[in-house]
Amino acid sequence: MTPSTDLNLPLFERAKALIPGGVNSPVRAFRAVGGTPRFVQRAQGAYFWDANGQRFIDYIGSWGPMILGHGHPAVLEAVQKAALDGFSFGAPTEREVELAEEILRHVPSMEMIRLVSSGTEAGMSAIRLARGATGRSRIIKFNGCYHGHADALLVKAGSGLATFGHATSAGVPAEVVQHTMVLEYNDIAQLEEAFALHGSEIAGLMIEPIAGNMNFVRASVPFMRRCRELCTQHGALLVLDEVMTGFRVALGSAQSVYARDIPGFKPDITVLGKVIGGGMPLAAFGGPRAVMEQLAPLGPVYQAGTLSGNPVATACGLATLREIARPGFYESLAAHTQALTQGLAQAAAASGIPFSADSEGGMFGFFLLPELPQNYPTVMATDGARFNALFHGLLDRGVYIAPALYEAGFVSSAHTAQDIEDTVAIAHEVFRTLAAG
Ligand SMILES: *Cc1c(COP(=O)(O)O)cnc(C)c1O
Repeated sequence: MTPSTDLNLPLFERAKALIPGGVNSPVRAFRAVGGTPRFVQRAQGAYFWDANGQRFIDYIGSWGPMILGHGHPAVLEAVQKAALDGFSFGAPTEREVELAEEILRHVPSMEMIRLVSSGTEAGMSAIRLARGATGRSRIIKFNGCYHGHADALLVKAGSGLATFGHATSAGVPAEVVQHTMVLEYNDIAQLEEAFALHGSEIAGLMIEPIAGNMNFVRASVPFMRRCRELCTQHGALLVLDEVMTGFRVALGSAQSVYARDIPGFKPDITVLGKVIGGGMPLAAFGGPRAVMEQLAPLGPVYQAGTLSGNPVATACGLATLREIARPGFYESLAAHTQALTQGLAQAAAASGIPFSADSEGGMFGFFLLPELPQNYPTVMATDGARFNALFHGLLDRGVYIAPALYEAGFVSSAHTAQDIEDTVAIAHEVFRTLAAG
């Protein structure tokens, strides 16, 4: 596509004149990879079409929510029906109760749940709840994990454990992040040191169990076990941010994956988003009754939302969850996802390009590195220029992956074996050009 005929370009120009960077969420601007973002005209199943009418096999799926693909008939029907009954009431509805029941049935570590509208809101509220419930201020987060853009969570590590973290955004006062400690993911020794130094002041430890915001990095089983033990021992709450992994890696979410290796494993607070809304603005946080009853109107921890539990969004989420709860759903999703990562690995190997990949359920990651990284600095050691060449090679040929090397990928139940085969064939071609270039 030459720039003069690319219809995404004039849209991007119009957007940039009115919206900062031309986008309503930064990664969409393609700043990391360069080029013009594709403006989506419509989507169906595993595909979307851009302003040029070019079809793409979609491996982002709205960054995870579209686990059934786009326009699933049962979900469409539920949303259309709900819309006819009213968009928003600011009063409770039965569907909110149904959605709460459906989520808690599959993720039994939560006895109660509250619905909100975004993962950011859910994560921010979970931190407030952990602080309110424990009467403590400090929180622990990990380098490379993303928990939304609440002030207290936009932090990177200081120079040592004793120093305060630094805000990663302008507009966040140092005072607001002074209670947030940032540790290296999968570093047990550092975790133990942090609890030894500050254990009695720690309200909560927040972690992505499989970090999808540094591509795809699993918390090792020993690391997760230690997180659980240390929180219990010191009276801190373990907050699992499952906004991305929830209902994406397994019906019981990532916590059920860890419970296979760590008997009885459960978090104190679970944060959900993405899949539970099926593509509509819906997220949630939940935990044991005693903790959740700290929330207003029962308890002293304030939290509220005009559109929380929105009737159309809950209909969308509920219909999605009912579809994915069908027997065999995750087995088939995982098989397709593994076929993709294995096919990509073979394509890279055929051209002698270093490559490693991992997946769980319908979430995957791959690296232009010979071995899977265990933390953020190793992820970021990827050859960025080579990743960008791969990204654009795939994009030009109709395969849409995340426009940044630190993002995960997603397969939906609408992706067929043929879609995966086509993708792998294209990857063979692109890796050959990378090896030649
Ligand atoms: C996407 C995401 C969030 C933020 O959710 P939004 O709905 O974008 O606010 C928080 N945590 C994790 C792990 C996420 O992947």
